[in-house]
Amino acid sequence: MAVSLDLTRKGSNVTPEQAGIQQEDAVSVRVAPVSAPEKPSLLGLNRPELAAALARVGVPDRQLRMRVTQLWHWIYVRGFTDFERMTNVSKELRQTLADAYTLARPELVVEQISVDGTRKWLMRFPSRGAGRPVEIETVYIPEEGRGTLCVSSQVGCTLTCSFCHTGTQKLVRNLTSEEIIAQIMVARDRLGDFPEIDTPQGAIVPSEGRLVSNVVMMGMGEPLYNFDEVKKALLIASDGEGLSLSKRRITLSTSGVVPGIQRTGDEIGCMLAISLHAVRDDLRNTLVPINKKYPLKELMEACRNYPGLSNAKRITFEYVMLKGVNDSLDDAKELVRLLKGIPAKINLIPFNPWPGTNYECSDWEQIEVFADFVNRAGYASPIRTPRGRDIFAACGQLKSESERLKRTERERLEAAAHG
Ligand code: SAH
Ligand code: SF4
Repeated sequence: MAVSLDLTRKGSNVTPEQAGIQQEDAVSVRVAPVSAPEKPSLLGLNRPELAAALARVGVPDRQLRMRVTQLWHWIYVRGFTDFERMTNVSKELRQTLADAYTLARPELVVEQISVDGTRKWLMRFPSRGAGRPVEIETVYIPEEGRGTLCVSSQVGCTLTCSFCHTGTQKLVRNLTSEEIIAQIMVARDRLGDFPEIDTPQGAIVPSEGRLVSNVVMMGMGEPLYNFDEVKKALLIASDGEGLSLSKRRITLSTSGVVPGIQRTGDEIGCMLAISLHAVRDDLRNTLVPINKKYPLKELMEACRNYPGLSNAKRITFEYVMLKGVNDSLDDAKELVRLLKGIPAKINLIPFNPWPGTNYECSDWEQIEVFADFVNRAGYASPIRTPRGRDIFAACGQLKSESERLKRTERERLEAAAHG
């Protein structure tokens, strides 16, 4: 059963249990709106940019390094959004910072919790400058021993992979580094990874105890078409004096933007996932049309040369299982041939249907036949269990629900405004 709740309690931090919701119910919580911050945010700036922001409000050059270190700690280790709590910063500077800047989180519009524990947040980023406010979705998937946050890089996507619902939504705009980092911060707030927010005496959660232990750039958008902002955000996320996510626990997924692959290895150094989905150019041209620009041969070459590639640092190849399209034993054989010599893992994703699609998910027996073959060839090939389908949080479903929620949200707001 799916439940939709409207909890407009101020500053609401209500857990499903507190709200009296049964474990077997999927939950949708409307969180109290907060007004959009107008001031520039300090979130998502790299160290030189943070130093420049401090210099602009009069922090002397000789203090910049120290002040950046202090702020970095409060912002990313403690998760504080209130300058007043940054006790090793002088009272005067705290006030100056509060007057000029903000650390406010984006507005959290809806939080949904699936029966399987998957959570999805719809966040609204305010319009800063000319752009209009945008809404994006972030998904948290708890698993045995780890918790993975699926982060968006764009609103919509310029690419048009035929099986992906996000691809039917035109690109609205790229997300900024601030907006990418904010997704991690909101998730950590909601999951209690910043315990001092609610309990001033609470301990800092050590990195191995955190609920958000892994980040995958597998939400909406093509991260390599927003390279600079994604890079900036991921370097902040992996900064050892801040959020401290190991680069081994950050994975960037691309549909195959070949020139960005080498740069990802050189400049970010995170793990790489490739949305492969087909092993012949003619089929991949229809499923993943960017293949016409960067065909399989070039893509595989870029993978072979991925900086840092080794048996301990493999590339994940994602392969969506489409009935009668790419799921034959011949496809499996060709896949093994194609990946020869590349340290790889294969992630088989059962197709998640969406309204209007012509594709169907492969039969389970066929997925197992396919998986068995690639397994026997020596590749780990887990079949990804669809998670959060009841809240439309599964792969490729993200935009659909966002559109639906936007409409209901709008109606709700209009109803409230009219009486
Ligand atoms: N744009 C990037 C990041 C998105 S990752 C990329 O394409 O790699 C999301 C993953 O889910 C991709 O592998 C994508 O191909 C896959 N996907 C998209 N739609 C899907 C669907 N309907 N069912 C299952 N997987 C899907
Ligand atoms: Fe864009 Fe990735 Fe969807 Fe293709 S699969 S349309 S690249 S989000």
